[in-house]
Amino acid sequence: MKTRITEMLGIRHPIVQGGMQWVGRAELTSAVSNAGGLGILTALTQPSPQALAEEIRRCREMTDQPFGVNLTILPTIKPVPYEEYLDVVIQSGVKIVETAGRNPEPYLPALKAAGIRVVHKCTSIRHALKAEKIGCDIVSVDGFECAGHPGEDDVTNLILLPLAARRLKIPFLASGGFGDGRGLAAALAMGADGINMGTRFMATREAPVHDQVKQQMVDASELDTALIFRTLRNTSRVFRNSVAQQVLEIEEREGETEFADLAPLVKGEKGRELYETGDMERGVWSAGMVIGLIDDIPSCDELVGRIVDEARLIIQERLPAMLD
Ligand code: NAD
Repeated sequence: MKTRITEMLGIRHPIVQGGMQWVGRAELTSAVSNAGGLGILTALTQPSPQALAEEIRRCREMTDQPFGVNLTILPTIKPVPYEEYLDVVIQSGVKIVETAGRNPEPYLPALKAAGIRVVHKCTSIRHALKAEKIGCDIVSVDGFECAGHPGEDDVTNLILLPLAARRLKIPFLASGGFGDGRGLAAALAMGADGINMGTRFMATREAPVHDQVKQQMVDASELDTALIFRTLRNTSRVFRNSVAQQVLEIEEREGETEFADLAPLVKGEKGRELYETGDMERGVWSAGMVIGLIDDIPSCDELVGRIVDEARLIIQERLPAMLD
């Protein structure tokens, strides 16, 4: 498949792996890039900018295809030296950066000067238009279905994507709820130039998380996610386990929620331990509604190939057969 995004990023298939905290490591990123999609390392998964430099080097050893780095700028428990992380990315020669969260405008001059393509992840059309205006090359339009932070507007991709197609000039990725060829064909039909998948790539052989996490995704349904941090306007979609339920109970108490009451339950370290040990009640972990569509644990190559084949069949056979 050839789209504005495959051309711009130099990839074979219009499928991008979402930047996932603790999951976007060299093993997964290189596997997605080797499969013809775009793999993305997650900067903050690495404990320091120096560790990110090493991870980029490791990823280069595992693939000669393009890959990107995600930098998420959202509230964190410990302050993050964002600029130092970005300096490392620029110095390393990586040519694709995905920003997410706050407005990336302060970082754009340096990224552009280094010839880096910037993909900004947005959960609303107003933010997508702003990203276009400040010079981002691509936006990733993240619908309400997505894992992690869906924003506060709760608009699904059936509305967001056609709106993006009507209003944006730059190409956009459809993100949130994608996991199969039907989704890819639908995204392209709605005006996107590709899809971004996080959760679906977490249930692959190469994803560096415990098998128990992958099995839980296979066993789960689309009803097994929960929205936490609503009361703090930092909403996050996570798997509905006992820890997420405890967070929701605290948020339902009368009066304002104090983040300090939630921190011991939700801190990222606990999520990392959960992914490493397979102890599924250790913390909270991001999961999108697409878990309802996951029923196996293929390799990235099998997954990407299957999605592209399915989409191609729909576009070449199912849809033309409906025309007189
Ligand atoms: P962390 O341990 O610092 O924080 C854990 C969670 O609490 C995060 O979701 C964070 O946004 C939230 N949080 C922290 N301080 C907060 C505050 N004062 N008010 C409201 N919410 C607060 O973070 P981490 O798990 O190490 O993750 C690192 C970065 O990656 C964060 O920016 C986080 O938001 C982001 N992240 C994004 C996704 C996603 O969108 N898919 C998933 C996980 C983490």
